[in-house]
Parts: sequence; structure tokens; C-alpha cells
Amino acid sequence: MTNDPAIDSHTGTPLWHSQAHMPSVMRDELVLVRGEGAYVWDATGRRLLDVPASLWYANIGHGRAEIAAAVAAQMRELETYSTFGRFATLPALELAGWVSEHVPLEQPKVFLTSGGGDSVDTAAKLARRYWHAMGAPDKQVILTRERAYHGLHGFGTSITGLAANLEGLGPLIQHTERVPTSDVAAVRKRFEDEHDRIAALFVEPVIGTGGVIFPEPGYLQAIQQLCQDYDVLFIVDEVITGFGRTGEWFACDRFGLNPDILLLAKGITSGYMPLGAVVISRRVWEPFWRDGSDLVFRHGITYSGHASACVAALRNIEILRDERLVENVAALGELFTETLKALARAPLVKEVRAGVGFLAGVELEDAAIAERVARAALDHGLLLRVISNTTLQVSPPLVVSSGDIAFLARGLEAALNDVQTSG
Ligand code: PLP
Repeated sequence: MTNDPAIDSHTGTPLWHSQAHMPSVMRDELVLVRGEGAYVWDATGRRLLDVPASLWYANIGHGRAEIAAAVAAQMRELETYSTFGRFATLPALELAGWVSEHVPLEQPKVFLTSGGGDSVDTAAKLARRYWHAMGAPDKQVILTRERAYHGLHGFGTSITGLAANLEGLGPLIQHTERVPTSDVAAVRKRFEDEHDRIAALFVEPVIGTGGVIFPEPGYLQAIQQLCQDYDVLFIVDEVITGFGRTGEWFACDRFGLNPDILLLAKGITSGYMPLGAVVISRRVWEPFWRDGSDLVFRHGITYSGHASACVAALRNIEILRDERLVENVAALGELFTETLKALARAPLVKEVRAGVGFLAGVELEDAAIAERVARAALDHGLLLRVISNTTLQVSPPLVVSSGDIAFLARGLEAALNDVQTSG
């Protein structure tokens, strides 16, 4: 510690926040101390509806003692053990089993990770490794859509469709390219020209962090078909949409998708522990698993299959199932959409995007207004998050009721009015 007041006053918080302009944030943190269901409490005692479900992940809501108890019991037994080489733990096996039986892929295998970014990097490496193993080492290009967000690890940063995340980093991973967000013909053209160089196309079924952008009808199915026709791996990133957010367990169910690789994280534990998964179709795992194969996928993460995290996931899945939370999204999805869409008439709103499950983006006139509305909303009991500069992320925990949705709309409208009248 220093006694120099000049240094002290400049220091502020010791915590370097993610994606934050620290001079603005360092003396202005919003500290959350407690959560219950769809609500959180800040350090000043305010009760706030968690409108974005933190970073899209608090599917079953906050403060679940059942998960704490299950994780504590596992930690007393065996906190975790690695899954490198021949090691495994019972929770890792059970979770891999559940996932492999419930995703819409046939006979998949499951590689567990510590989160979404890990899942993305694992899948990108596996896609290239697969084509190398298949005698097509030139198939290396990873395609993603403009406005895509696939986390910020090495591959995730390299393949982002959000340019701000590339600033000042110099050359990243080679052979990555963007295609327009919703243009089937552009994908076809890239495949026609160079499918022998293209390893995989990554898609978010609904673009999340890029501003909540829904697929045009038929878009996802058409690009899936193109991937099949041109022998490009189709990788669906369900880090946000998995585990109920669209009103189905997986967006793949909703949109009729059958990817070569499926990525999961966030809702798999509802955030109670950090965990992700890469679900791999038979086509891709087969060369590595076949009797007599000498291939090894040289990849691993210390906490892959972390036993206590897997227990949190398993208990989370039970809660989603027993409390019929995915059904809750399906039942209230239309009300949610209509309520949000009605806000298009409110002041300062440029566009409301909604229509699938508990997912909406309320785009405001500019970035400064979006920040001001997020602040004003705190006085109306709402915790809001701004994404893509101008859009309010509306993706509440799956436990919300029709009353909570009405509370959300009233609060948002009040915050918009506050900002408009204060000029
Ligand atoms: N993929 C998508 C679609 C995401 O939204 C995110 C995070 O928001 C990620 C990947 C990265 O996940 P993580 O932040 O756990 O690394």
C-alpha cells in the first residue's frame, strides 16, 4: 500500500473489469451482494430484476440452495479430478451421458470445458484437426457471420464479427473470414469458390452479444444444407440459446438443426459453476475413436469435466426439468414478445427485436442514451445491460412470471420517459 494520495486517488478498485472503460468504472462499480429467483440485490440494498440474467446465463435464477448443497456434498467427497488420459470422475461421466442423450445429434461424444470461450477454441481446433486427419489439411478457414460473438479466447477473438474486439491486437489466428449476417447467397459463393479450404462455419442461432439478431426464416436451414453439400463442418454455438432460452431445450430443436459440432456453456449450470461443453457428432469423433486409430486430439483444459461443476450442471438440469422452466418460456414467450414489441412506441426507442423465447433487444437512438436509460432503470427496480453500444439486452431468467414481465415493461417505459424528460 502507498500513502501517496495522488496514487491512491487514481487507484480506485483493484478489480480490472471485463470489457470496461476503467477510468469510468473504477469509482463507480455496481456491487451485487445477493440473489433470489429473477432478482438481485446491490450493496445499497436495492432489489433489482435481473433483466439480462447476468451474462445470459442465470436460467434457473439466483440463490438456489439445492445447487449449493449438491456442490458442497461433491466437494466433501472429491472436489474434482482431471479427465486427462484415462482419468474420469462420476459426475463428468454422468453429465456427458445426459448431454449426449438429450441434444439433437446422433450418438455424439462430449468434450467438457470451463466455459463458452473454451468450447469455441476447442471446436475450432477440432475442426482443423479433423480435416487434417481426413487428408484435407488445406481445409483450415473458419467462417463466421458479421456481428457474431464467440467469446474472446484466441480463436474466439480471431473469428469475431465485432471489430472493436480486434483493436490493437495485431495479427491473430490466420485463415478466418466473415460472411454477411443473413445472406445465404454469400455463403454459397464462398463455398463454391473455396470449399476445399473451408473447415467450418460457426453460427449463433440467434446472434446475442452482437445485438440480438434473429435469423431470417429459412436462413439457418439453408446454410446447414450448404455445409452438407460442400463438406464444411456446421458448428452451432448455443452458448446463449442452450438450456431453454428459446422455449426449447436447444435452439437446434426449434430450428431443426443437426450440427456437426454443438457448443454449450452458460445455462448448462445457470452460472453456479463455470462449465462448457463441445458436443461432437459421430462423423467428427469417429476417426479419433476407431479401434486401431493412432490419432490423438492434442487438446485439454485443467478443469475439463470439473466434478463439482458437473454436479452443479446436473442439479441445474433437474431444476429446469422438474420446475418445467423450458415450458414456462414456451408458455410466456408470446406475451414476452408482445410486451417488448409494444415498447417500440416508447420514446427514444429505435427498434425492438423479439420473437423467440426470452430473448429481445431494445435498440435505442444512440449509445449515450442507452447508458442513461440503463442507469435510470435502477430507480425503477431494473438491472439492465447495454450490448452492441445501443441495445438493451432483455433475456431474463427463465423463472420470470407474467407479473415480472409486466414489471419489466413498466420499469423500462418509466426509465425511457425519465431520460427523455431530463433532456
Ligand atoms: N459464444 C457465445 C454465443 C457467447 O455469447 C459467449 C459469451 O457471451 C461465448 C461464446 C463465450 O463464452 P465465455 O464468456 O464463457 O467464454
